[in-house]
Amino acid sequence: MPTAYLEEVNPWEAQAARSDVAAEKLKLDEGLWKILREPSREVIVHIPVQLDDGRLEVFTGFRVQHSIDRGPAKGGIRYTPDVTLDETRALASWMTWKCAVVDIPFGGAAGGVICDPDKMSRRELERLTRRYTAQSMELLGPEKDVPGPDINTDEQVMAWIMDTYSMHARHTVTAVVTGKPLELGGSHGRIEATGRGLMIVCDQAAKKLGMSPDQTRVVIQGFGNVGSNAARLMRRRGYKIVGVSTSKSGLFNNNGIDIEALSLHYQRNRTLSGFSGSEETNSAELLVADCDILIPAALENQITSRNADRVRAKVLCEGANGPTTAEADEILVDKGVFVIPDILANSGGVTVSYFEWVQDRQGYFWTEAVVNDSLQHTMRTAFAEVLKYAETHGVSNRIAAYMLAIDRVAYTLRQRGIYA
Ligand code: NAD
Repeated sequence: MPTAYLEEVNPWEAQAARSDVAAEKLKLDEGLWKILREPSREVIVHIPVQLDDGRLEVFTGFRVQHSIDRGPAKGGIRYTPDVTLDETRALASWMTWKCAVVDIPFGGAAGGVICDPDKMSRRELERLTRRYTAQSMELLGPEKDVPGPDINTDEQVMAWIMDTYSMHARHTVTAVVTGKPLELGGSHGRIEATGRGLMIVCDQAAKKLGMSPDQTRVVIQGFGNVGSNAARLMRRRGYKIVGVSTSKSGLFNNNGIDIEALSLHYQRNRTLSGFSGSEETNSAELLVADCDILIPAALENQITSRNADRVRAKVLCEGANGPTTAEADEILVDKGVFVIPDILANSGGVTVSYFEWVQDRQGYFWTEAVVNDSLQHTMRTAFAEVLKYAETHGVSNRIAAYMLAIDRVAYTLRQRGIYA
């Protein structure tokens, strides 16, 4: 796949480039920003795992807690071969800002383990997950730090974390992770939550820009948890999904792709390739394809100074964390692209994670309709608040979202005071 559009941008620096601007616009006290800017705790663990062939391997894992000012730290765990401490730092701080944008009582955290799940058996992944959890025990807990799924981690991984933590605690602690299977204290609607949240904010943007779903062509990069659920739900709402991709291949059909049929094809074959009726393409081409809404839902640094000027979408809705570089931001603003920034757009996942945590702690479970209605209310409110902030302060949607978030966290910190 052509990769000339990619830029090596350190995600922590990309995050800091935006949050520094927002803090400055807020005229935030310099000392307060020194506290809020940096993660409060970073842990590196070396995780011994016995492989199926009997060899011992040692994996490196991270857990970063950026902030616990507004509540327990909250954030996903990713398993990728190239995850770094800086990437984990960036994800942790994005979680702090994201939880504040949707006004839920969580701080921000993130975790990662350097590994390649494609090359590991299920038993190896289980041993890795359990040992990573055991080595992070003192950090975790429903009142302390609550992990959730991210790239290459799913319900099963969350179930292993819950079980390992519970074995150490000597009783079942469902609220220690979110994104669990329904039968283990998971929430209705959690699997689709991030995709549903993307649809809710796209609906709001379409309404604002006078676009009707059935006239709106959508391209989605990534067909994992976020991308595939956004595709299915948006198709059902009436949007025309004209392009989708994975790391290996992509499809484009200007008349719209049959997403239900494609999902079945993908489940059976684990590839998009070979799906009839669509033109085969790749991720790089799709980012600049002719469409109305572009949803990057895969990785960081996809829209860069090298391709931003060729983006043809009217709306950029960020399903992934950090898919756009700071340099690309300026190009998109100049082009008049309506950006729904990651810390707003993909906050549906953590919002329903919050609902899951509430349900676990109450021992009382909601219907799917209650979950989805509450998610819609939360996301519509946050969307309106970000837009109002942008108008009032004359800044982009992205800087507005950061300003709103930083203002909320700073307010809490001021009220709590600095313990010394
Ligand atoms: P996932 O592992 O389920 O899926 C990732 C998808 O991205 C896969 O389809 C993979 O093939 C694809 N991909 C990888 N490299 C690609 C490339 N170069 N081009 C096109 N596709 C590529 O992960 P996910 O949970 O869907 O997460 C995707 C993004 O959304 C990440 O940035 C994650 O941090 C963010 N996010 C996830 C959640 C959640 O609830 N899972 C919530 C908020 C944000």
